[in-house]
Order: sequence, then C-alpha cells, then structure tokens
Amino acid sequence: MAAKAKESRFFDAKENMALTKRHSYYQQSLVKMVRPGYQKSSRVKRIFDERNIKPLEIKSIKDLEKLPVISREELVKLEKEEPPFGGFENKDIKIDRIFTSPGPVYEPHLSEKDPIWARGYYAAGFRKEDIVLNAFSYHMVAAGLTFHSGLRRVGATVIPSGASSTENQVQLIRDLRATAYTGTPSFLMAIIKKAEEMGYNFKNDFKVRKASFVAEPLQPSLREKFEKEYGIDTYQMYGATEVGDIAYECKEKNGWHICEEVIVEIVDPATGQQLGPGELGEVVVTRLNHIFFLFRFGTGDLSRFIKERCPCGRTSFRLMGITGRVGEATKVRGMFIAPSQLRQVSSRFGDLKLQAVVDRVDFKDYLTVRVETEKEGPERNRLEAEFENVFKEICTVKIDKLEFIEKGTLSDKDSPIFDRRSWK
Ligand SMILES: [Zn+2]
Repeated sequence: MAAKAKESRFFDAKENMALTKRHSYYQQSLVKMVRPGYQKSSRVKRIFDERNIKPLEIKSIKDLEKLPVISREELVKLEKEEPPFGGFENKDIKIDRIFTSPGPVYEPHLSEKDPIWARGYYAAGFRKEDIVLNAFSYHMVAAGLTFHSGLRRVGATVIPSGASSTENQVQLIRDLRATAYTGTPSFLMAIIKKAEEMGYNFKNDFKVRKASFVAEPLQPSLREKFEKEYGIDTYQMYGATEVGDIAYECKEKNGWHICEEVIVEIVDPATGQQLGPGELGEVVVTRLNHIFFLFRFGTGDLSRFIKERCPCGRTSFRLMGITGRVGEATKVRGMFIAPSQLRQVSSRFGDLKLQAVVDRVDFKDYLTVRVETEKEGPERNRLEAEFENVFKEICTVKIDKLEFIEKGTLSDKDSPIFDRRSWK
C-alpha cells in the first residue's frame, strides 16, 4: 500500500452520482436556469412567449423539445439582430470576459470559477506535477484561456505557448521540461517532426508523456503512433466555443463522458425531437449557467449515446465520438448513415471500397451496399455474412441487398452514399 493518501478517481463527486440522483440533478439545474433565463434574458422571454410556453413547463430534459434548436448560423443572425449577444445574456450580471469566434459570434463568458475543461484533463491524468504546453491560441477566441483555466483547476503549471512556431514549441518543451501537451493532434505531430529535424529523439530527450486533444478528430492510426512510437498517453475532449466543454474521454478510451455542466440531447436535425438510445443524431447542448441562456445549441455534429455504465465508475452517458456533420448524413428507414461510418466499416475489412445506395421501393427505403471484392466461392460467402454483421453493428441499419462488384468499379469521385430516392 502506498503511503500517500489515495487520490480520487474523479474530479468531483458529481461524476459518480447514482443515476436517480443524476436524474434529479439535471431537473433541478434546468429549472434553476429556466426561471432566471425567462426573467433576465429578453431573447428567452420572446422564445417562450411566442410559443406560449410558461417557464414552469420546462422541468425535464424531455421538455426541452418544446424549445427550438439554435444553430450557429441562427446565433450569428440573432446576435446581429440584437447586438452583441442576441439578448441571450443575463442583463443584470457583470460578465467576466467576452470571446469572439468567426461569424462573428460574441460569447459572454462564464465565471472563472467554472470548471470548464478540468474534468477532461483530470480524467486524462493531468495533475499538479504536470507542466503543460497549451498550444491553443489565446488571441480573441475562447480556446487558449479556457483550456488554461481547466489546466489550472487540476493544479497543473501552464506554458501558454499558443500559436508559437513549432521550433519555439520544441524549445519550450526542452527548456521547461514539459510533461504534457494540449492542442490539436496534427500540431503535436508537427512539433515532433520539427524536433526530429532539429536532431532530437522526442521520446528519449523530452518528458512529454500525455496529451489531451480537442478541436480535431484523432485518427486511430495517429493515436497508435503517439502511444506506441512516442510513449504519449492520448485523450480526447469535445466541446464547442458557444457552449464550452461538452464531453471527454476517461482511461477506458471508449466513448466520451458528458460533462456535468451540460445537458446533451441527441436529436433528429429535421424535427428537433429527441432520438432513442443508440440512434445517430445531432448533438444539441444546453450549458447549465446563469449568464448566457442559450438553450438547445445545435452543434451540427452527429453522434449517439452510449448509455451502458462505464467501467471507470462515472455514471454520465457517453457520446460515441463524432460521426460527421448533419448535412453529410442520409436517413435510411429513419436512421442516419454518415460517410464516416462507412469508412469505419471499410477499415474493418482492409479498406475495401464500398458505396451505400438508397432507393425507394414500394414506399419503403431500400438499402443496397455495393462492395468491391475479388473473393469467390466460400470466401465470398464468409465475407458476406461478416460484412452484414459489422455493417449492422456500426451503422445500426440492416442491408437489404449486398452487391459484390469487381475491383476498380468505384472511383474516388463516387460519393460514399448515393441517394436515388425520389419523393415525387
Ligand atoms: Zn469512463
């Protein structure tokens, strides 16, 4: 037994609260936001009044369906209409800081007491012993400073290296003995390449052993490279500049836990209605706070919930990564299929080329999947059975017809999803 007091596995007690408690926690937090939102925000009052909704009617996650989903484009429009914050702000509160993001969108910022991003860093093992290179821009946008806050909340020392050159970053890592990195995965790889160019062996000469990535998808092949070749333990976080941190990976690295400061819904982007467990839909976020009353922000990202308990002990639902953007996905029998899911299927079979074709037969959707193969006879039969299973597992839609085609039939110009349905 170590002499040191056992450190908690969780950032705070909220992360492993019992499900019944979690349920009432969401309800109470929502009610606590709705009432002042209606009283203090001119926009929220208008949204409610126009729909004839009383603040008391919004008391559960399900009730949020009564409110409209607000996309980034919509937010830009509303802020132009009622500058600078679209009327979403609490008119009686002094704002700590204001960030901007392209659009422009102006974001009155949450209190510096907010544990923004800290849960993600904590789950990734960032602690007070760490010296972290924060390679996110500190200029105007929320990134640099909010990640900085999160790192400080877990006690780490921060090097605010921001958008400095890769050479500069290498120098900082070397001179200051940085132990961790936060930024995009591609920028870390650029730093590693620069270090190698400068004659260093990144793994042996430096101390960087963990990285927390955000703002860019982490390709599995790149993750493997970081972990195996460079000995860097990698984690992902997910958020949006309008609402802050949304979810983060734990040690299990299997899905992203939803932060305790947000309510996440997975909705049908066409109707804004919540979808069932396991269904792919748009990630819609409400950040529980009393400064910026942006209910139901539509991220435009596609994901689905994992509702099974995570072995790490956290009780929040997890998001199963980001599968793409709303515009790219096609609905088949009410379920979305996104190009990235097809790529995932393809990678399970050695990157074989495939295309999903959607037709309408007898007033029903009909899904044909065309797959290039050279296999014949029993080998082909085996592939067929296995392929159908994997497809169902990843895309959650059953294939109506699996069509094997000759190698070279599909070109890179062919869209991965070919929607031939006519609605006339
Ligand atoms: Zn977990």
